[in-house]
Amino acid sequence: MVLFSDYHMHPQGHRVQPYDQALLQPWADAARERGLRDIALTDHDRYHEGVDFSAIETLRANNPDLKIRAGIELDNDPVTGSAGRAWVKANWDRLDFVLGSVHYLEAAQMFDSMGQEHQFAGRDIDAIYAGYFERVREAAASGLVDCLAHLDLIKIHKFRSRAPVVDLVADTLRLIKAKDLAIEISTAGWRKPVGEQYPAVEVIRLAREIGVPFTVASDAHSHVQQAENYERLAGVLEECGITEVCVYDRHRRQVVAL
Ligand SMILES: [Zn+2]
Ligand SMILES: [Zn+2]
Repeated sequence: MVLFSDYHMHPQGHRVQPYDQALLQPWADAARERGLRDIALTDHDRYHEGVDFSAIETLRANNPDLKIRAGIELDNDPVTGSAGRAWVKANWDRLDFVLGSVHYLEAAQMFDSMGQEHQFAGRDIDAIYAGYFERVREAAASGLVDCLAHLDLIKIHKFRSRAPVVDLVADTLRLIKAKDLAIEISTAGWRKPVGEQYPAVEVIRLAREIGVPFTVASDAHSHVQQAENYERLAGVLEECGITEVCVYDRHRRQVVAL
């Protein structure tokens, strides 16, 4: 099985770096080197100022062998979230793909950053998971996303729920299905303390049973991370019986056999 798409990447990294060919071309080059032919640029919505649709057009013109999708990762940042949502609404017709993410619980800091384990330590982990999935359902119901990113990101620091995660996530997957959205299967968890792809195999299996479609992704914050661990990811897909992934053109989902 050869994976040909990567639908989660951050050319700007973690600051505003306005899109131009110097910034973007290395992402096209790396995609080609790794055998990708369909990629989505999905910078964080808090850096939307750097996103330039005409620069994406130029990148497409310079790399006609690649499908390059204009995307964004929209999260629940308590400070920038409303501006991000307004930007997504204003640019919906120019975007191909919007990822929905939950990076914030009660605290003003992203829970998934290193050093944020204190948001979990000594607390009721099942309640934290429940609150996290409630926020994921809000993202799924927002009408502003095509796909949910790293669905069980809440496990990042290795704090596991007592209840099986499939029990905690089932309602969320049913809502995702009802809203006709996809979820991402991401290699990013392999470079985090949890050391496991997002989401867990049992969550992927339940999603498949429910009929939720999948994208595949690396969540690269540098072009060298594009398609990282994709051979291992192909093994996970095979293990779960997944034989197709989806790609997006102006929010229209297309299913492609692997
Ligand atoms: Zn994210
Ligand atoms: Zn991301």
